Amino acid sequence: MGGVDMMDRLISYYRISTRTKKWTMRVFAHFLNMATCNAWIMYIRHCKQCENPLKNRLHLIDFKLAIAESLIKAEVSEEAVQERPQRRKYQHFVPLPVNDVRYDRTGHFPEHVKRENQMKCRLPGFPGKSRVRCIKCDLYLCLQNRNCFFEFHNK
Ligand SMILES: [Zn+2]
Ligand SMILES: [Zn+2]
Repeated sequence: MGGVDMMDRLISYYRISTRTKKWTMRVFAHFLNMATCNAWIMYIRHCKQCENPLKNRLHLIDFKLAIAESLIKAEVSEEAVQERPQRRKYQHFVPLPVNDVRYDRTGHFPEHVKRENQMKCRLPGFPGKSRVRCIKCDLYLCLQNRNCFFEFHNK
């Protein structure tokens, strides 16, 4: 039996019901079906290589269900979640606001950010560190030992 014939047969067993006449969704469903059938063929080949007994091999429908279940239930590990903001710290560089915004005296409110490390104060010439951020400019400015927050927003 040719590979294509077998593929057609496998695909026809459990078609994905899209309940839509949109051809884009139907094509997408078809390719998804093809991809999972391909994966199952690889899986069976692997089972044969490993001499996995027949009774332990997943049928096509169970294989598909296993994929569905892992896609639904798999969660991002806590480690990966915690890594994200740290990486952002280096990637996310906020440029200084234009002067029309910086000195408009509107909506520049300080916000205390709960974070482990203090951030470099963005008032030029003062190498201080702070956990206080202007919510409009999205920049960190000293507001404890010295009031860079006020200086930054006034000419
Ligand atoms: Zn501001
Ligand atoms: Zn400062």
